[in-house]
Amino acid sequence: MNVLALKIEIKGFEILNDTDEYVDIKVGAGEIWDEIVGKTVGMNLSGLESLSAIPGTVGASPVQNIGAYGAEVKDTIQEVEVFDIKDGKISIISNKDCKFGYRDSIFKNEAKRKYVIIGVTYRLKKSIPIIPDYPGVKKYFIENNINNPALKQIREAIISIRSEKLPNPKENPNVGSFFKNPIVLNEVAYKIIEEFPNAKFFALKDDLTKIPAGWLIENAGLKGESFGNVSVYDKNALVLINIGNATSKDIIKARNEIIKIVKDKFGITLEQEPEIV
Ligand SMILES: Cc1cc2nc3c(=O)[nH]c(=O)nc-3n(C[C@H](O)[C@H](O)[C@H](O)COP(=O)(O)OP(=O)(O)OC[C@H]3O[C@@H](n4cnc5c(N)ncnc54)[C@H](O)[C@@H]3O)c2cc1C
Repeated sequence: MNVLALKIEIKGFEILNDTDEYVDIKVGAGEIWDEIVGKTVGMNLSGLESLSAIPGTVGASPVQNIGAYGAEVKDTIQEVEVFDIKDGKISIISNKDCKFGYRDSIFKNEAKRKYVIIGVTYRLKKSIPIIPDYPGVKKYFIENNINNPALKQIREAIISIRSEKLPNPKENPNVGSFFKNPIVLNEVAYKIIEEFPNAKFFALKDDLTKIPAGWLIENAGLKGESFGNVSVYDKNALVLINIGNATSKDIIKARNEIIKIVKDKFGITLEQEPEIV
């Protein structure tokens, strides 16, 4: 089968609006995501700092609504500029019309393969940054005696924590988090917490609770476990590593076994995060 693959190299970093409260910046889709995060943090603009050190490009950031440490890129995206592959027209898609969800957007659904994203406009704030409400982040600041972290220090904290928890894809081939964190009704979460009082969870609005998939996999006894040439990373159960010459079939087999074991133990069905091409 012949397929056309495009490597987007569209560069650009343009300030569209600069007010007392925020700055709107349009960034070319081919820019490296973390370089842009570093640049905006250096400009003392908040909004992207918790998304530090996520590999990839700016153009991919709206596709799965990248997120980490409680932040999602949807909260900063104003609009996305796209090139329609069929009619060759360039248009703008507003934040609302991107239909962002948890690791989701129209670019993964009804608009899948319809557009090439060519630019993304982010609205970043000049106000004091919000410290990510995550135990690991709080621990980092306590250990480093930092009381009121500056934007730069939040970025440094995230980079440091991520480098300990996430294997370098060049050394241990991986695609980052392999499963989405399940979002369940509170009553489902309460049952799990009753049975496993040390369960980790994050209360969301609308009677929903997010349970870290990594916690479920680890507590199903799978951390460090190998399934043929695929292993559950021993420092972070959310990551699968190719430890040999694992094929896509091996990965799917390991994924299915993990999903089954977690379902049998907790009654929750894990969903895969990365896309199979
Ligand atoms: C170690 C590691 C850690 C990670 N941590 C996180 C994390 O914390 N949070 C998170 O959300 N993700 C994380 N990821 C996943 C990954 O970094 C993101 O999905 C990122 O956005 C991928 O960027 P990319 O440029 O490599 O896109 P690709 O992987 O090449 O593409 C991803 C999808 O977007 C589409 N796409 C990409 N660019 C465009 C474009 N310009 N126009 C139209 N469609 C496009 C592709 O067709 C594909 O469907 C991690 C990955 C790794 C390896």
